[in-house]
Amino acid sequence: MKRVINFNAGPAALPLEVLEKAQSEMLDWRGTGMSVMEVSHRGKEYDEMHHHAMQSFKEIAGMDDSWKILFCTGGASTQFAMLPMNFLTKDKTADYISTGHWSKAAIKEAKRFGNVHIAADTESNGVFTRIPEQNEIKLSSNPVYVHMTSNNTIFGTQWQYWPNLGTAPVVCDMSSDIFSRPFPVEKFSMIYAGAQKNLGPSGVTVVAIKEDFLEKVATDLPTMLAYKTYAENDSLYNTPPCFSIYILDLTLDWIKNVGGLTAIEKINKEKQEILYKAIDNSNGYYRCPVEKNSRSWMNVVFRLPTEELEEKFVKEAKNAGIIGVKGHRSVGGIRFSIYNASTVKHVKDAVAFMDDFKIKNK
Ligand SMILES: *Cc1c(COP(=O)(O)O)cnc(C)c1O
Repeated sequence: MKRVINFNAGPAALPLEVLEKAQSEMLDWRGTGMSVMEVSHRGKEYDEMHHHAMQSFKEIAGMDDSWKILFCTGGASTQFAMLPMNFLTKDKTADYISTGHWSKAAIKEAKRFGNVHIAADTESNGVFTRIPEQNEIKLSSNPVYVHMTSNNTIFGTQWQYWPNLGTAPVVCDMSSDIFSRPFPVEKFSMIYAGAQKNLGPSGVTVVAIKEDFLEKVATDLPTMLAYKTYAENDSLYNTPPCFSIYILDLTLDWIKNVGGLTAIEKINKEKQEILYKAIDNSNGYYRCPVEKNSRSWMNVVFRLPTEELEEKFVKEAKNAGIIGVKGHRSVGGIRFSIYNASTVKHVKDAVAFMDDFKIKNK
């Protein structure tokens, strides 16, 4: 068996320990004589695991009982519509901070439901190379919520400070950096994340929402698009994505075993330092287009001297067992997605490949 160094942007690498545990339990989960995919979602075993995953999520995030954990489907992309559908009306305004591709996708959906005020926008010539500074953020007078994206997966930028966003509820799309570092949970009223980057497989989207924010939702929504349905039924109104939630549960256990967010942050800090140092010390051979104080710890993007060399880099990396390094089709270049499951050793091996490639392709 050969496992590659997987820098895919999403779905992405999972911790080896999680995969091995799932493998060992595949045929007989918790003594049921069935896999977790085959048991009833109304059964005791499933119910226990489902609630354990919710509890673990709260524990890792440092969320008290004023928070509800919801397991939704349809990816983070469905949240782009579900959020305004639940909170925004034609006569009201929601504020959005535009920092990349996914922020723009969220804005597009919100506009269907009400007014959108762009509180800050760092797009320049079709690309985003930085996060706005605090003094660039101009909030509207009474928004129903303020939406931000903590990490911009495609452009490789990430908030390296937590902005002050006034008194309205703050909602954050944390899909690509959730649980990669501690975060000030008290600043938010809702966070959401598609699981397939840092939490598990695709198929489940975790939504954490404060009870007092939940009180403000619109009524008379389609049942499956109302946050209340999930909150009031512990996300068991209909059949949840059982297998995805099971892997999520194992991944959350793994995060706890590593030592929680402080321990995870230390590892992620080291990984990004090694990688950005290799880029910055390459005498301009590798070049990161992102401004230094906006660089992402999760998605490290860089360019080579020519597109031909980039193409060659992708090909030879693959031959060397390093996959998923091609930048998003909208921006080109190279991207290493180094989520929680990628190790310091993976990054060091990749840097050794980069150094070698540079020498051979001057
Ligand atoms: C990947 C990603 C999305 C889209 O997620 P889906 O689950 O595919 O809908 C949204 N926001 C961010 C920040 C992402 O990284």
